[in-house]
Amino acid sequence: MSLALTSLRKLADIVGSSNLLTSPEERIAYGYDATAMLSHRPEAVVFADTAEQIAGILKLANADGFKVVPRGSGTNLSGGTIPCDNSVVLVTVKMDQILELDLRNLTIRVQPGVLTGKIDEAAAAHGLFYPPDPGSLKISTIGGNVAENSGGLRGLKYGVTRDYVLGLEVVLPTGDVMRCGTKCVKDVAGYSIKDLLVGSEGTLGVISEVLLKLLPRPAARKTMLATFDSMTAAAETVSDIIAAKIIPCTLEFLDRTTIRCVEDYAKIGLPDAEAILLMETDGHPAVVEDEAGKMINLAKTHHARDVRVAGSAEEADRLTAARRSAFSALARVAPTTILEDATVPRSELATMIAFIQQIAEKYRLKIGVFGHFGDGNLHPTFLCDERNKDEIDRVHAAFREIFEKAIAVGGTITGEHGIGLAKKEFLERFAGKTSLDVMRALKRTLDPNNVLNPGKIFI
Ligand SMILES: Cc1cc2nc3c(=O)[nH]c(=O)nc-3n(C[C@H](O)[C@H](O)[C@H](O)COP(=O)(O)OP(=O)(O)OC[C@H]3O[C@@H](n4cnc5c(N)ncnc54)[C@H](O)[C@@H]3O)c2cc1C
Repeated sequence: MSLALTSLRKLADIVGSSNLLTSPEERIAYGYDATAMLSHRPEAVVFADTAEQIAGILKLANADGFKVVPRGSGTNLSGGTIPCDNSVVLVTVKMDQILELDLRNLTIRVQPGVLTGKIDEAAAAHGLFYPPDPGSLKISTIGGNVAENSGGLRGLKYGVTRDYVLGLEVVLPTGDVMRCGTKCVKDVAGYSIKDLLVGSEGTLGVISEVLLKLLPRPAARKTMLATFDSMTAAAETVSDIIAAKIIPCTLEFLDRTTIRCVEDYAKIGLPDAEAILLMETDGHPAVVEDEAGKMINLAKTHHARDVRVAGSAEEADRLTAARRSAFSALARVAPTTILEDATVPRSELATMIAFIQQIAEKYRLKIGVFGHFGDGNLHPTFLCDERNKDEIDRVHAAFREIFEKAIAVGGTITGEHGIGLAKKEFLERFAGKTSLDVMRALKRTLDPNNVLNPGKIFI
């Protein structure tokens, strides 16, 4: 351990000794996140209770010259919370209070450690709705969601985390506390700093409070699962649904490999098929009936073998669970699971899926593909073994081709998981030098000593 004992003592003074972990076993545990094949041991782990404590830690980091890596639940998939040399992991999970539910302004103010799913639960108790629902919603924190600008299954109709962030309290890398944003629906005073912080991956500030917008809860919802003998037919169904001017709240798909793994794991009664499409519409009951009928017809026009309509909320939850458990189900199959999120314009989905299948053959790899069909966000998931060097080399070559292809068809290298450590080598190629220079200049301005989550996003 190279962090000076005096720094450790000062950290204990700030957060209390019970909130400071220094044993090798504890430090090892915080050297990982949900990203495969990345780990690094931090010098210490601290749990903050207040913005003042976070400010104290960051001021100390600037003075004593150590680094700080913010962390929520560590479920990110881009190495965003992997510690660097001489770093302290700063965990915000203990800041887990819902501070205010404002029924007149339809807002909720929460601390960063509140679990994502708890926000919608609190809203639902008052007939309200917090739509962003990453697959990890039962374990991820809102601080992590804001820092990653997380998406989810309802992104097609309702957008992503950024669309719901009205305001933030943030501790800047220098230790200064800043508030930005308001409850006002309209607010154009100065630069929108909150929008810069959303998706900043813990590199520009530590989020200590979040003000979120809520919506009225949709009165009705209908969930359907369509089974197809060809992925192209499923993709064409999606295109036709959108062309019919229907924006469902969910349009998710699973390929054959993923269907088999999910069925093995969750025993939901999924068919053996080339593709399944999870379709969900919500809103006014009459609109829901109308849209559901049209979606079923469109699926049938494209020769869906079967369309199962959930008869109850419990059955709807079971069908949705098929999609929500995709990553966990795939993760059981091989020692190493690498999940990617190349994203393409919707019109390019069929091309991209076919390309990924060709790549799997070319590099002799097992790749399960699932994802958010409605918004072009694919999750090619490599089932491999990190101890097999030859296989991992092929995985990296396959990635490179998939990202190149995504960029070539007008897509992006990440739709929701962020750059972190995992994709920084691809960022300049995607964003261009000028854009990257602007990002670097912003980082230098806000974090002159490069203390906050260094090494992420930029090479
Ligand atoms: C099974 C599974 C399913 C998933 N499904 C989805 C999905 O559908 N959509 C999606 O977008 N993602 C998904 N993810 C990825 C992941 O859950 C999200 O990125 C999530 O937002 C991370 O939240 P967290 O609390 O775990 O954050 P962490 O992993 O702890 O941190 C993520 C990033 O946020 C920063 N950070 C954390 N807390 C703070 C804070 N208080 N202030 C500043 N920065 C902070 C960290 O430094 C890091 O860069 C999934 C992951 C898993 C394992």
